[in-house]
Amino acid sequence: MRSTPIQELENIMGLEPMEDRRDTKLLTQAAKFKRLPTHPIKDRLCQPTKGRLKRGSFIHQTRVLERRHQDILDQQPKDIPQYLENPSWSDEGRPQIRRSIPGVGKKNCQSCAELKSLTIEHIHNSYPQRQWTHVYTDGSADQAVRSSGAGIYIKYPGGREEEHISLATGLYSTNFKAEAVALQTGAAHIEHSPLSSNNVVFFSDAKSVLQALDTARDKELNDLSSALTSLCRAHTVVLQWVPSHCNILGNEAADTLAKEGTTKDQNDRSTTFKEAKTIIKAKQHKKWLQQQPHYNKNDAFHLLTRSEQVLIFRLWTGHNRMNHHLFTKFRIGQSDQCPCQTGSMTTEHLLQTCPLHDGLRSQIWAEATTVQGKLYGSLDDLQRTATFARRAGVSI
Ligand SMILES: [Zn+2]
Repeated sequence: MRSTPIQELENIMGLEPMEDRRDTKLLTQAAKFKRLPTHPIKDRLCQPTKGRLKRGSFIHQTRVLERRHQDILDQQPKDIPQYLENPSWSDEGRPQIRRSIPGVGKKNCQSCAELKSLTIEHIHNSYPQRQWTHVYTDGSADQAVRSSGAGIYIKYPGGREEEHISLATGLYSTNFKAEAVALQTGAAHIEHSPLSSNNVVFFSDAKSVLQALDTARDKELNDLSSALTSLCRAHTVVLQWVPSHCNILGNEAADTLAKEGTTKDQNDRSTTFKEAKTIIKAKQHKKWLQQQPHYNKNDAFHLLTRSEQVLIFRLWTGHNRMNHHLFTKFRIGQSDQCPCQTGSMTTEHLLQTCPLHDGLRSQIWAEATTVQGKLYGSLDDLQRTATFARRAGVSI
């Protein structure tokens, strides 16, 4: 409703306030300018200004904000590629990218054991260890956006020989980059290893990287696609997605190596625009979360359907279409009385005392329940309240 307190709405729905979102946009835009080599504003952003800046100017605002985020200033901006330096996939051949496993459904639908057995069976049937080199790759980043590492675990055909590689992939790096570097390092390494068979399969749990590669949409993956194209000249190459965290031996080994990589010396401070943007958003969101100790996107309220959420929210705030609010706030109607004429029509009156709904009330709540319980209880409590309001036919 028009009178609803905006801040309350934002807090409950997990929306950052307008001012914070504006800051995020400003920082993101500045990050973009710094990575456009020929843009006139780039020099002004990167070099100290002679003379005074207007307080309201874009550059002034950016400086003020960036001073609060030392690690944004510490990053080395990497230019945005103006064009594709290499065609993302050449005609010489490209790897096959398999983004699913037969029988494996969406997240959270299957148990870990089920996922594991389906995956292992698929690996066993499609890429028998006697004929295929298995390369497990994984990337890891501290809090998803800092100090990242890549891990590569290679099992050569026959299953005797193994290799373990771990490396640091950047001080300011996203998971995405770490995963891509892991694949790229694996591909480059395999190209220079003598193999008894030319079949190579990469196992990765980075669905987003595989998807970006498959659709060749991401310019920032040029290095990876060249490494793979090069490998394809003399090898049959498959990239196979595998589910994460379900105890697949090779995947776990790569994960451990990637974590090891995060602790090594991080010499690379470069970030692409996409990475810088992810990092800014994550930082801003984290800052917002710290100011919202009670916000929990998985609490009972957030499990309700949208229409239930609207209803409960209106009951919570009292900003609703019941007579009390309409009359006291907008002078709509004759009075704030409930049609039953026994009291003011408020949330508490409707849920607890209104005689018009006594029958329905005892049907839905067999035992007496407090308003607190009905409005702030478990998922079941909230759903009962929503059902009650709907069936009572009161416009909330
Ligand atoms: Zn009433």
